[in-house]
Amino acid sequence: MNFITKNIKYISFAVCLLVIASIFIYSEYTKPQTHTFYAFDTFVSLTLYGKNAKNASAEAEQMMIRLENEFSMYRSGSYTFLINNAEINSPVKVSGEYAALLKKSVELCRKSHGAFDISVAPLSALWDVKNRTVPPGAAEIAAAAAKLGCDKLEITDDSVTKKADVKIDLGGIAKGYAADRLKETVKSAGVSKGILNLGGNVCVIGGKSPSKDWTVGITDPFDTSKIYTDVKVRDTSVITSGGYQRYFEYNSKIYHHIISPYTGYPAESDLASATVIYDDATAGDALSTAVFVLGSSEGEKLLREFNAGGVLIKCDGTVINIP
Ligand code: AMP
Ligand code: MG
Repeated sequence: MNFITKNIKYISFAVCLLVIASIFIYSEYTKPQTHTFYAFDTFVSLTLYGKNAKNASAEAEQMMIRLENEFSMYRSGSYTFLINNAEINSPVKVSGEYAALLKKSVELCRKSHGAFDISVAPLSALWDVKNRTVPPGAAEIAAAAAKLGCDKLEITDDSVTKKADVKIDLGGIAKGYAADRLKETVKSAGVSKGILNLGGNVCVIGGKSPSKDWTVGITDPFDTSKIYTDVKVRDTSVITSGGYQRYFEYNSKIYHHIISPYTGYPAESDLASATVIYDDATAGDALSTAVFVLGSSEGEKLLREFNAGGVLIKCDGTVINIP
Protein backbone atom coordinates (compact mmCIF):
# COMPACT_ATOMS: atom_id res chain seq x y z
CA MET A 1 0.00 0.00 0.00
CA ASN A 2 2.78 2.26 1.08
CA PHE A 3 4.60 1.47 -2.16
CA ILE A 4 1.52 2.35 -4.32
CA THR A 5 0.86 5.65 -2.53
CA LYS A 6 4.50 6.54 -2.74
CA ASN A 7 4.75 5.79 -6.44
CA ILE A 8 1.25 6.83 -7.54
CA LYS A 9 2.64 9.53 -9.89
CA TYR A 10 4.85 7.02 -11.72
CA ILE A 11 2.19 4.31 -11.83
CA SER A 12 -0.38 6.76 -13.32
CA PHE A 13 2.17 7.85 -15.88
CA ALA A 14 2.91 4.21 -16.86
CA VAL A 15 -0.83 3.43 -17.19
CA CYS A 16 -1.29 6.52 -19.42
CA LEU A 17 1.58 5.39 -21.65
CA LEU A 18 0.09 1.91 -21.89
CA VAL A 19 -3.32 3.32 -22.91
CA ILE A 20 -1.76 5.58 -25.57
CA ALA A 21 0.29 2.67 -26.98
CA SER A 22 -2.81 0.41 -27.10
CA ILE A 23 -4.80 3.10 -28.95
CA PHE A 24 -1.95 3.50 -31.40
CA ILE A 25 -1.65 -0.26 -32.03
CA TYR A 26 -5.46 -0.61 -32.24
CA SER A 27 -5.81 2.18 -34.83
CA GLU A 28 -2.89 0.73 -36.80
CA TYR A 29 -4.96 -2.43 -37.28
CA THR A 30 -8.45 -0.99 -37.62
CA LYS A 31 -7.96 2.28 -39.52
CA PRO A 32 -7.30 1.65 -43.19
CA GLN A 33 -4.75 3.41 -45.30
CA THR A 34 -6.40 4.46 -48.58
CA HIS A 35 -4.43 5.41 -51.64
CA THR A 36 -5.75 6.26 -55.12
CA PHE A 37 -3.79 6.72 -58.34
CA TYR A 38 -4.22 6.37 -62.09
CA ALA A 39 -2.60 3.44 -63.93
CA PHE A 40 -3.55 0.98 -66.67
CA ASP A 41 -6.03 3.55 -67.99
CA THR A 42 -8.13 3.35 -64.85
CA PHE A 43 -8.35 4.58 -61.26
CA VAL A 44 -6.65 2.24 -58.84
CA SER A 45 -7.76 2.42 -55.24
CA LEU A 46 -6.02 0.55 -52.44
CA THR A 47 -7.57 0.22 -48.97
CA LEU A 48 -5.05 -1.50 -46.74
CA TYR A 49 -5.03 -2.42 -43.07
CA GLY A 50 -2.18 -3.48 -40.84
CA LYS A 51 1.42 -2.70 -40.22
CA ASN A 52 3.23 -0.92 -43.01
CA ALA A 53 0.05 -0.19 -45.00
CA LYS A 54 1.44 3.19 -46.05
CA ASN A 55 4.74 1.78 -47.31
CA ALA A 56 2.91 -1.11 -48.97
CA SER A 57 0.68 1.36 -50.89
CA ALA A 58 3.69 3.24 -52.20
CA GLU A 59 5.41 -0.02 -53.18
CA ALA A 60 2.23 -1.19 -54.94
CA GLU A 61 1.98 2.05 -56.94
CA GLN A 62 5.60 1.70 -58.11
CA MET A 63 4.91 -1.88 -59.16
CA MET A 64 1.82 -0.83 -61.18
CA ILE A 65 3.84 1.84 -62.96
CA ARG A 66 6.53 -0.70 -63.83
CA LEU A 67 4.01 -3.28 -65.08
CA GLU A 68 2.22 -0.71 -67.23
CA ASN A 69 5.55 0.39 -68.75
CA GLU A 70 6.37 -3.24 -69.60
CA PHE A 71 2.93 -4.50 -70.71
CA SER A 72 1.07 -1.70 -72.47
CA MET A 73 0.96 -1.93 -76.26
CA TYR A 74 0.75 1.88 -76.33
CA ARG A 75 3.99 2.47 -74.34
CA SER A 76 6.93 2.66 -76.70
CA GLY A 77 9.70 0.49 -75.30
CA SER A 78 7.33 -1.91 -73.50
CA TYR A 79 7.90 -5.62 -74.20
CA THR A 80 4.52 -5.68 -75.95
CA PHE A 81 5.51 -2.71 -78.12
CA LEU A 82 8.86 -4.32 -79.00
CA ILE A 83 7.18 -7.61 -79.96
CA ASN A 84 4.45 -5.88 -81.98
CA ASN A 85 7.06 -3.93 -83.92
CA ALA A 86 9.60 -6.77 -84.33
CA GLU A 87 10.41 -8.47 -87.62
CA ILE A 88 9.11 -11.99 -88.19
CA ASN A 89 11.59 -14.65 -86.96
CA SER A 90 13.55 -12.08 -84.98
CA PRO A 91 13.56 -12.97 -81.23
CA VAL A 92 12.70 -10.24 -78.71
CA LYS A 93 14.31 -10.52 -75.26
CA VAL A 94 11.74 -10.35 -72.46
CA SER A 95 11.76 -10.85 -68.68
CA GLY A 96 10.93 -14.26 -67.22
CA GLU A 97 7.85 -12.66 -65.66
CA TYR A 98 6.60 -11.40 -69.04
CA ALA A 99 7.31 -14.72 -70.79
CA ALA A 100 5.37 -16.60 -68.08
CA LEU A 101 2.37 -14.27 -68.47
CA LEU A 102 2.40 -14.75 -72.27
CA LYS A 103 2.52 -18.54 -71.85
CA LYS A 104 -0.41 -18.37 -69.44
CA SER A 105 -2.32 -16.10 -71.86
CA VAL A 106 -1.83 -18.56 -74.72
CA GLU A 107 -3.00 -21.43 -72.52
CA LEU A 108 -6.11 -19.43 -71.52
CA CYS A 109 -6.77 -18.73 -75.20
CA ARG A 110 -6.78 -22.47 -75.88
CA LYS A 111 -8.87 -23.31 -72.79
CA SER A 112 -11.45 -20.61 -73.64
CA HIS A 113 -11.70 -21.94 -77.21
CA GLY A 114 -10.24 -18.70 -78.56
CA ALA A 115 -12.79 -16.39 -76.88
CA PHE A 116 -9.96 -14.80 -74.88
CA ASP A 117 -7.17 -14.15 -77.36
CA ILE A 118 -4.24 -11.76 -76.78
CA SER A 119 -3.57 -11.74 -80.55
CA VAL A 120 -6.78 -9.66 -80.85
CA ALA A 121 -4.51 -6.54 -81.08
CA PRO A 122 -5.11 -5.73 -84.81
CA LEU A 123 -8.86 -5.69 -84.07
CA SER A 124 -8.69 -3.77 -80.78
CA ALA A 125 -6.41 -1.20 -82.47
CA LEU A 126 -8.77 -0.93 -85.46
CA TRP A 127 -11.90 -0.55 -83.31
CA ASP A 128 -10.05 1.96 -81.05
CA VAL A 129 -13.27 2.69 -79.16
CA LYS A 130 -11.63 5.46 -77.12
CA ASN A 131 -11.15 7.68 -80.19
CA ARG A 132 -13.53 6.40 -82.86
CA THR A 133 -16.96 7.85 -83.58
CA VAL A 134 -17.77 5.74 -86.66
CA PRO A 135 -17.27 1.95 -86.97
CA PRO A 136 -14.55 0.68 -89.36
CA GLY A 137 -15.52 -0.89 -92.69
CA ALA A 138 -16.19 -4.61 -93.18
CA ALA A 139 -13.10 -5.14 -95.39
CA GLU A 140 -10.76 -3.56 -92.80
CA ILE A 141 -12.33 -5.72 -90.07
CA ALA A 142 -11.89 -8.90 -92.13
CA ALA A 143 -8.25 -8.00 -92.89
CA ALA A 144 -7.49 -7.41 -89.19
CA ALA A 145 -9.35 -10.57 -88.13
CA ALA A 146 -7.22 -12.65 -90.52
CA LYS A 147 -4.09 -11.72 -88.55
CA LEU A 148 -5.19 -13.38 -85.29
CA GLY A 149 -3.52 -16.51 -83.94
CA CYS A 150 -1.61 -17.11 -80.68
CA ASP A 151 0.06 -20.12 -82.30
CA LYS A 152 2.18 -17.66 -84.31
CA LEU A 153 4.08 -16.82 -81.10
CA GLU A 154 7.09 -18.87 -80.07
CA ILE A 155 7.74 -18.23 -76.37
CA THR A 156 10.80 -19.40 -74.44
CA ASP A 157 11.67 -18.52 -70.82
CA ASP A 158 13.20 -15.20 -71.89
CA SER A 159 12.27 -14.47 -75.49
CA VAL A 160 9.34 -14.16 -77.88
CA THR A 161 9.59 -14.78 -81.61
CA LYS A 162 6.83 -14.05 -84.11
CA LYS A 163 6.61 -16.89 -86.61
CA ALA A 164 4.18 -14.86 -88.76
CA ASP A 165 2.59 -11.41 -88.71
CA VAL A 166 0.90 -11.14 -85.30
CA LYS A 167 0.41 -8.48 -82.63
CA ILE A 168 -0.56 -8.78 -78.99
CA ASP A 169 -2.77 -6.84 -76.59
CA LEU A 170 -2.65 -7.76 -72.88
CA GLY A 171 -5.55 -5.42 -71.99
CA GLY A 172 -7.81 -8.36 -71.13
CA ILE A 173 -5.45 -9.93 -68.58
CA ALA A 174 -2.90 -7.33 -67.39
CA LYS A 175 -5.02 -5.81 -64.62
CA GLY A 176 -5.73 -9.26 -63.18
CA TYR A 177 -2.03 -10.06 -63.27
CA ALA A 178 -1.23 -6.73 -61.62
CA ALA A 179 -3.82 -7.47 -58.90
CA ASP A 180 -2.13 -10.81 -58.14
CA ARG A 181 1.29 -9.19 -57.92
CA LEU A 182 0.01 -6.26 -55.85
CA LYS A 183 -1.64 -8.69 -53.44
CA GLU A 184 1.67 -10.56 -52.99
CA THR A 185 3.57 -7.31 -52.48
CA VAL A 186 1.27 -5.78 -49.87
CA LYS A 187 0.86 -9.07 -47.99
CA SER A 188 4.59 -9.57 -47.68
CA ALA A 189 4.89 -5.96 -46.51
CA GLY A 190 2.67 -6.90 -43.56
CA VAL A 191 -0.84 -6.00 -44.74
CA SER A 192 -3.37 -8.25 -43.00
CA LYS A 193 -6.55 -7.28 -44.84
CA GLY A 194 -7.69 -4.90 -47.52
CA ILE A 195 -9.24 -4.22 -50.91
CA LEU A 196 -7.35 -3.63 -54.15
CA ASN A 197 -9.68 -2.06 -56.68
CA LEU A 198 -8.28 -1.81 -60.21
CA GLY A 199 -11.23 -0.50 -62.20
CA GLY A 200 -13.63 -3.43 -62.65
CA ASN A 201 -11.11 -5.69 -61.00
CA VAL A 202 -11.41 -6.14 -57.23
CA CYS A 203 -9.07 -8.26 -55.15
CA VAL A 204 -9.81 -8.72 -51.45
CA ILE A 205 -7.28 -9.72 -48.80
CA GLY A 206 -8.64 -11.57 -45.78
CA GLY A 207 -12.15 -10.81 -44.59
CA LYS A 208 -13.72 -7.63 -43.20
CA SER A 209 -13.30 -9.29 -39.80
CA PRO A 210 -12.53 -12.89 -38.81
CA SER A 211 -16.26 -13.65 -38.93
CA LYS A 212 -17.41 -11.26 -41.67
CA ASP A 213 -16.77 -11.36 -45.43
CA TRP A 214 -16.18 -8.32 -47.63
CA THR A 215 -19.14 -7.12 -49.71
CA VAL A 216 -18.22 -6.33 -53.32
CA GLY A 217 -20.83 -4.48 -55.37
CA ILE A 218 -21.42 -5.38 -59.01
CA THR A 219 -22.16 -2.38 -61.23
CA ASP A 220 -25.59 -2.19 -62.85
CA PRO A 221 -24.72 -2.61 -66.56
CA PHE A 222 -27.94 -0.75 -67.49
CA ASP A 223 -27.27 2.23 -65.20
CA THR A 224 -23.63 2.45 -64.18
CA SER A 225 -24.39 4.92 -61.38
CA LYS A 226 -26.02 2.04 -59.49
CA ILE A 227 -25.06 -1.33 -58.00
CA TYR A 228 -27.08 -4.26 -59.48
CA THR A 229 -26.21 -6.86 -56.88
CA ASP A 230 -23.33 -7.79 -54.58
CA VAL A 231 -21.26 -10.76 -53.51
CA LYS A 232 -19.81 -11.64 -50.11
CA VAL A 233 -16.23 -12.85 -50.40
CA ARG A 234 -12.88 -13.24 -48.62
CA ASP A 235 -9.34 -13.75 -49.96
CA THR A 236 -10.27 -13.86 -53.63
CA SER A 237 -10.84 -11.63 -56.65
CA VAL A 238 -14.05 -10.38 -58.27
CA ILE A 239 -13.57 -9.33 -61.88
CA THR A 240 -16.16 -7.86 -64.21
CA SER A 241 -16.17 -7.42 -67.98
CA GLY A 242 -18.98 -5.39 -69.51
CA GLY A 243 -19.80 -3.57 -72.71
CA TYR A 244 -20.63 -0.43 -70.70
CA GLN A 245 -17.03 0.14 -69.57
CA ARG A 246 -15.61 1.61 -72.80
CA TYR A 247 -17.56 2.30 -75.95
CA PHE A 248 -18.73 4.74 -78.60
CA GLU A 249 -22.24 5.09 -79.97
CA TYR A 250 -23.07 5.32 -83.67
CA ASN A 251 -26.60 5.39 -85.12
CA SER A 252 -27.98 4.45 -81.68
CA LYS A 253 -25.79 1.34 -81.51
CA ILE A 254 -23.12 0.74 -78.87
CA TYR A 255 -19.67 -0.38 -80.09
CA HIS A 256 -17.68 -1.48 -77.03
CA HIS A 257 -14.12 -2.61 -76.28
CA ILE A 258 -14.53 -6.39 -75.95
CA ILE A 259 -14.05 -7.89 -79.39
CA SER A 260 -15.25 -11.30 -80.46
CA PRO A 261 -12.26 -13.01 -82.13
CA TYR A 262 -14.86 -15.16 -83.96
CA THR A 263 -16.57 -12.25 -85.76
CA GLY A 264 -14.10 -9.33 -85.58
CA TYR A 265 -16.88 -7.12 -84.14
CA PRO A 266 -17.60 -6.07 -80.54
CA ALA A 267 -19.05 -9.17 -78.86
CA GLU A 268 -22.83 -9.42 -78.99
CA SER A 269 -23.76 -12.26 -76.67
CA ASP A 270 -26.78 -12.45 -74.37
CA LEU A 271 -24.71 -10.92 -71.54
CA ALA A 272 -24.69 -7.32 -70.32
CA SER A 273 -21.83 -8.14 -67.95
CA ALA A 274 -19.80 -11.11 -66.78
CA THR A 275 -18.37 -11.23 -63.26
CA VAL A 276 -15.92 -13.94 -62.29
CA ILE A 277 -15.00 -14.85 -58.70
CA TYR A 278 -11.67 -16.64 -58.65
CA ASP A 279 -8.62 -16.78 -56.41
CA ASP A 280 -6.24 -16.44 -59.38
CA ALA A 281 -6.98 -12.87 -60.54
CA THR A 282 -4.86 -13.29 -63.69
CA ALA A 283 -6.91 -16.23 -64.95
CA GLY A 284 -10.09 -14.60 -63.60
CA ASP A 285 -9.48 -11.52 -65.74
CA ALA A 286 -9.04 -13.59 -68.90
CA LEU A 287 -12.10 -15.64 -67.99
CA SER A 288 -14.34 -12.59 -67.50
CA THR A 289 -13.43 -11.38 -71.01
CA ALA A 290 -13.96 -14.88 -72.46
CA VAL A 291 -17.32 -15.39 -70.73
CA PHE A 292 -18.56 -12.00 -71.96
CA VAL A 293 -17.66 -13.06 -75.52
CA LEU A 294 -19.09 -16.58 -75.22
CA GLY A 295 -22.44 -15.66 -73.63
CA SER A 296 -24.26 -17.21 -70.69
CA SER A 297 -24.49 -20.84 -71.78
CA GLU A 298 -20.91 -21.47 -72.99
CA GLY A 299 -19.60 -18.99 -70.41
CA GLU A 300 -21.18 -20.85 -67.50
CA LYS A 301 -19.71 -24.10 -68.84
CA LEU A 302 -16.24 -22.53 -68.98
CA LEU A 303 -16.48 -21.22 -65.41
CA ARG A 304 -17.55 -24.63 -64.14
CA GLU A 305 -14.56 -26.22 -65.93
CA PHE A 306 -12.32 -23.85 -63.95
CA ASN A 307 -14.30 -24.31 -60.74
CA ALA A 308 -14.76 -20.53 -60.71
CA GLY A 309 -17.72 -18.62 -59.31
CA GLY A 310 -19.57 -15.98 -61.25
CA VAL A 311 -22.48 -13.59 -61.61
CA LEU A 312 -23.71 -13.31 -65.17
CA ILE A 313 -26.15 -10.46 -65.85
CA LYS A 314 -28.07 -11.12 -69.04
CA CYS A 315 -29.28 -8.40 -71.41
CA ASP A 316 -32.87 -9.19 -70.34
CA GLY A 317 -31.92 -8.32 -66.73
CA THR A 318 -31.93 -11.85 -65.36
CA VAL A 319 -28.99 -13.04 -63.28
CA ILE A 320 -27.19 -16.38 -63.29
CA ASN A 321 -25.34 -17.03 -60.02
CA ILE A 322 -22.57 -19.60 -60.22
CA PRO A 323 -21.46 -20.56 -56.70
P1 AMP B 1 -11.63 -6.77 -70.10
O1 AMP B 1 -12.11 -5.42 -69.73
O2 AMP B 1 -10.79 -7.46 -69.10
O3 AMP B 1 -12.74 -7.66 -70.56
O4 AMP B 1 -10.62 -6.61 -71.32
C1 AMP B 1 -10.94 -5.85 -72.44
C2 AMP B 1 -9.66 -5.38 -73.07
O5 AMP B 1 -8.93 -6.55 -73.53
C3 AMP B 1 -9.89 -4.54 -74.31
O6 AMP B 1 -9.81 -3.17 -73.99
C4 AMP B 1 -8.78 -4.99 -75.24
O7 AMP B 1 -7.59 -4.31 -74.93
C5 AMP B 1 -8.60 -6.46 -74.89
N1 AMP B 1 -9.53 -7.37 -75.59
C6 AMP B 1 -10.67 -7.09 -76.30
N2 AMP B 1 -11.25 -8.21 -76.73
C7 AMP B 1 -10.48 -9.24 -76.29
C8 AMP B 1 -10.56 -10.67 -76.43
N3 AMP B 1 -11.57 -11.27 -77.06
N4 AMP B 1 -9.56 -11.41 -75.87
C9 AMP B 1 -8.54 -10.82 -75.21
N5 AMP B 1 -8.42 -9.50 -75.04
C10 AMP B 1 -9.38 -8.71 -75.56
MG1 MG C 1 -10.46 -9.45 -68.68
